[in-house]
Amino acid sequence: MTTWHNWARTESAAPTRITTPADTAAVVREVLAARRRGGTVKMVGSAHSFTGIAVAPDGMLRPSAMTGVLAVDRAAMTVTVAAGTPLHELNARLEDLGLSLHNMGDVDAQTIAGAISTGTHGTGGVDASLAVQVEALELVTGSGEVLHVSAEQHADVFAAARVGLGALGVLTEVTLRVEPLFALEAHERPMSWDEALSSYDDLVEAHHHVDMYWFPHTDRMMTKTNDRLADLDAAEPLPRWRRWFDDELLANTFYGGLTATANHVPTAIPRLNRLSAGLQTERRYSDVAHRVFTTPRRVRFKEMEYAVPRDVGLDVLREVRRQVDASSWRVSFPVEIRTAPADDITLSTASGRESLYLAFHVHASADHRAYFDGVEAVLRAAGGRPHWGKMHSLSAADLAPVYPRWDEFIALRDRLDPDRVFTNDHLARILG
Ligand SMILES: Cc1cc2nc3c(=O)[nH]c(=O)nc-3n(C[C@H](O)[C@H](O)[C@H](O)COP(=O)(O)OP(=O)(O)OC[C@H]3O[C@@H](n4cnc5c(N)ncnc54)[C@H](O)[C@@H]3O)c2cc1C
Repeated sequence: MTTWHNWARTESAAPTRITTPADTAAVVREVLAARRRGGTVKMVGSAHSFTGIAVAPDGMLRPSAMTGVLAVDRAAMTVTVAAGTPLHELNARLEDLGLSLHNMGDVDAQTIAGAISTGTHGTGGVDASLAVQVEALELVTGSGEVLHVSAEQHADVFAAARVGLGALGVLTEVTLRVEPLFALEAHERPMSWDEALSSYDDLVEAHHHVDMYWFPHTDRMMTKTNDRLADLDAAEPLPRWRRWFDDELLANTFYGGLTATANHVPTAIPRLNRLSAGLQTERRYSDVAHRVFTTPRRVRFKEMEYAVPRDVGLDVLREVRRQVDASSWRVSFPVEIRTAPADDITLSTASGRESLYLAFHVHASADHRAYFDGVEAVLRAAGGRPHWGKMHSLSAADLAPVYPRWDEFIALRDRLDPDRVFTNDHLARILG
């Protein structure tokens, strides 16, 4: 019987054994039991990956009893949290403590372990991904050994396990670097395609975080820049009614209805996109950082996202537009454009290179194949690397050439999980 499915309903599983460990010792017991019976075991997060990366066909560990802040070190400016802590819970606790993460993605539903394991990222900043903000980890390996890893201890494991794809072990604790709580001012404004692309580099240079959305079949872009306010108390959040009106009514209810309708009448999509783009207005607001980074996403969609080298990124985007314009695809969701500095994590999508992220979405009930396949060919030709939690068609043979440190990760996997206790069909495809 199917007992688990992911948020986008693209993957499901019927685990043979489901447990909810409350501590590291319980995780070790489950790993050793799986090894003894020649089976597999996997901790899932909030099921927000679009791929089968979290599918647990045999033993499934639920994260819900391993949550909360375990330690705060104000001298080192780090917090240690249980690996299953959802990001919204982490943000709320950090806010109470007067602390904040440096950067994060668009939503806060994921668990910290799930988010870092697939390289979840935001845009810009000194660190774009959550994994880069990790200072140390506690990891249960495939032989049941408990490792404490950091840049000083087991540095080779630390290099890889921050974006470990769930393939190197079960994370039980995550220590994150934090900052004093700060506020961001968001400035959202519509632009034409030409204006957005010609000013993109300047915007990225001038602002802490830049997020852009292109509405396919139109000439319209929506740009969001976020900048730090010097004074937290100067923040001017949107009134509750406006936030509800914009984020719930327009972005979720109205837009959800529009994109669902568009599925039944694809020929109407270009007109509907022009309508959606036309409804976007300029607005400014400021608030505690996590409330500016994230918005509620209740319209279910499917997504593919690739990181391409930053220096060719805008040309890749132009080529994608040429493809969309020349095709018969009807795409009702915007394409999201973000940046990341290079980082030092073995299989991070920004490993060793500054990156531009291009993300493609369709409504959860729409057929994504022609669009995703067509665009994927453009992204791959540019040396693109797919997000580990989002849809793509690549296998190990395709991925190895775009990751200079691929062999390092594979060798570490052989060492930490020689019996493949943590594997599943998806990992077998992407890692071999
Ligand atoms: C609406 C929505 C918005 C999103 N926005 C963004 C965004 O802005 N930026 C971005 O980069 N991504 C984004 N994503 C993708 C998402 O952040 C990733 O797929 C992320 O991995 C999901 O985290 P999760 O807790 O749901 O983990 P899951 O999807 O449940 O699991 C992901 C992987 O982590 C592993 N894992 C989970 N817990 C552990 C553990 N304790 N130890 C070891 N491995 C573990 C799982 O086994 C699996 O391999 C979004 C997804 C959705 C659905």
